[in-house]
Amino acid sequence: MPAEPLTWHGAPARRVAVVGAGLAGCLLATMLAERGLEVALYERRADPRVGGPERGRSINLALSARGIDALARVGLADAALAEALPMRGRTLHPRAGALGFHSYSADGTRAINSISRATLNAALLDCAEKTSGVSLHFGHTCTGVDPATGTLSFDTAGGQVTVPADLVIGADGAYSAVRRALQFREGFDYSQSFLPHGYKELTIPPTPDGEFALDPGSLHIWPRGEAMMIALPNLDRSFTCTLFWPKDGPGGLSTLDSAEAVTAHFAEHYPDAVPLMPTLVEDFLRNPVGSLVTVRCAPWVVGRVALLGDAAHAIVPFFGQGANCAFEDCVELGRCITDAGGELSTALALYGERRKANADAIADMALENFDEMSNKVNSRLFRWSTRARHALERVVPGYVSRYELVSFTTTPYSRIEGRVRTQDRLVAGALAAAVGSVLLAWRARR
Ligand SMILES: Cc1cc2nc3c(=O)[nH]c(=O)nc-3n(C[C@H](O)[C@H](O)[C@H](O)COP(=O)(O)OP(=O)(O)OC[C@H]3O[C@@H](n4cnc5c(N)ncnc54)[C@H](O)[C@@H]3O)c2cc1C
Repeated sequence: MPAEPLTWHGAPARRVAVVGAGLAGCLLATMLAERGLEVALYERRADPRVGGPERGRSINLALSARGIDALARVGLADAALAEALPMRGRTLHPRAGALGFHSYSADGTRAINSISRATLNAALLDCAEKTSGVSLHFGHTCTGVDPATGTLSFDTAGGQVTVPADLVIGADGAYSAVRRALQFREGFDYSQSFLPHGYKELTIPPTPDGEFALDPGSLHIWPRGEAMMIALPNLDRSFTCTLFWPKDGPGGLSTLDSAEAVTAHFAEHYPDAVPLMPTLVEDFLRNPVGSLVTVRCAPWVVGRVALLGDAAHAIVPFFGQGANCAFEDCVELGRCITDAGGELSTALALYGERRKANADAIADMALENFDEMSNKVNSRLFRWSTRARHALERVVPGYVSRYELVSFTTTPYSRIEGRVRTQDRLVAGALAAAVGSVLLAWRARR
């Protein structure tokens, strides 16, 4: 398809700067270059394909329908899935007693996919690099941007540089420098809220005979009420565990500062995991504690600058949607460029309008899902209601659970709560009508 001429308020627009060569930045750079733009992709790190991934970032993540749909648009979905392990449900690890498996979908076949962040980022970088029109600039730390002119400043090993751009996209993550440049302007709303919990990554290596120590076909959860540990499988047959635990207070992460304290904590809360984690103490004392932040801001577009991915809407990881949502932003921005006939100022305005409510919706659902994963899954009522929903999905045409709508469809996030409420009302109404008819029939027979 020939690329349509892209404009900024009617004048030809060619040079786009994307700040941040993480997951979303690489995908967006590829998509924009495929439309005929010259895209300069700036990244503060050295090339992670050469130097290895940065410490302190999550090791693997769950890729689901929205991310797969976005990757398919640049021909990367099959390659990514070939490097991923499907997880068809949750395995719950109680403190004592048998494990319980709960499938994510009614028919038990649908899966979210555990993939290494570094592998996915490297594949996206390769894809961007191969796309005509993309140039990669590592070792460039963005320090500021002028939204009126699109001029960017960077710190580099050779000193400060400034570069011009017709359009700037800030895809530089939760602590975005591009967003910071907009933050103190009148009319720019911004909030960040941290959970009292931190997270720490640990590992379950393969067994001595080289096998997975747990079922690799599910996401493992140790739900402990106010806190939890999860584990996702890796292709090398290890699992990456993430412990979500209050940072401070009695028994908080900050108090687990000795081998004895760590061992006692895990023996109490995760007794079945301890024998599988031979390097637990070293890993625990060495690995950093990460923060769990929700960032909301508006507008996402100021002059020639737009925000995308975590830079626009960092969310907590409990629905496994941060990267999926960031990828979906890229798809929506492309759609807006088409709908605006290639006029980028109109496209950006449309993108901000269409996407913000969706990001707010998944931010709320992600926060709620912490309680579901760490606490509600323990209750019989919750397990019964999940089974009931799956049964409804099998018998009621069009009934789809919230989890499935989020993870296995591209239904806009902002429509999901409404749809679930309507479905539940209809089912409750049908049930009430059925019970009423049975009662009436019973009375008529007496
Ligand atoms: C513990 C944890 C688990 C998660 N699990 C999942 C999951 O299962 N599924 C899921 O979908 N999401 C998950 N996420 C969320 C996901 O990691 C993010 O939503 C996703 O990485 C966002 O992509 P991004 O490209 O917007 O930002 P990032 O991936 O953070 O990329 C930003 C890039 O910008 C660069 N950068 C930063 N500052 C500058 C600067 N000043 N100048 C130049 N470059 C800069 C960074 O180095 C980085 O390369 C998880 C997050 C965490 C913390």
